[in-house]
Amino acid sequence: MFENSLNAFPDHLRESVLCALLHNVADRLNIEPRPIRLHVVDTSSWLAFTRLQGVPTVYISPTVSIGVIAHEIAHCLVPTRWLFFAEGIATHIGCSITGHCREMLFLEKTPEAVVQRYWDFSFEQFSALLSATLDRPSAFDGGKFITFEGRLAHMIAAAFVQYSLRSIEDFVSRLLETDIPTPEEFLEQSFGMSLNQIHALWYAYLRERRGMTSSPHIASSEYPTK
Ligand SMILES: [Zn+2]
Repeated sequence: MFENSLNAFPDHLRESVLCALLHNVADRLNIEPRPIRLHVVDTSSWLAFTRLQGVPTVYISPTVSIGVIAHEIAHCLVPTRWLFFAEGIATHIGCSITGHCREMLFLEKTPEAVVQRYWDFSFEQFSALLSATLDRPSAFDGGKFITFEGRLAHMIAAAFVQYSLRSIEDFVSRLLETDIPTPEEFLEQSFGMSLNQIHALWYAYLRERRGMTSSPHIASSEYPTK
């Protein structure tokens, strides 16, 4: 059902499809759904963005895929100015609901498979992406979205979010409630170890999952279904 765009559904079914999608996204993040607004804008051009002021509101054109709508719903449910987590959660949701990463122009089925194939696991890059916020230029900037750097940054963040959700069941609730000032300290407290150790453990986890292959081409793995 979540493979299509809204256009694939008759008018009278759209509301229930969107409602099911909202609950599905909240369930995957292990949080309660909350009211959001969704405006379908009657335009022939592609449109998908979210405003978080007041009641969070998603604006979409009817041609965008359900995966993209799910991405925007995730932004509404987890409003954080820490872009690594905001984009990581939204991208993880979009890929896991559709079972592919084609919206991000990758042929791999999961963000994990993308980072295993295209990233060198530089700690410096991980650390730089983690500290990205709206008021500073970063690889998450809207203008970089179509570049390889921007798309890979989204995949790195999504793969890390998936790892965090596996490691810490209430990861997203903690993120929503935290008053810790920086994403680095938030992670160190949540995982109970230093950022270096978190990065090293994540790397070890992904190496193990790809079967310790030395080949640069890593087969994509299945997304866990929930
Ligand atoms: Zn986004």
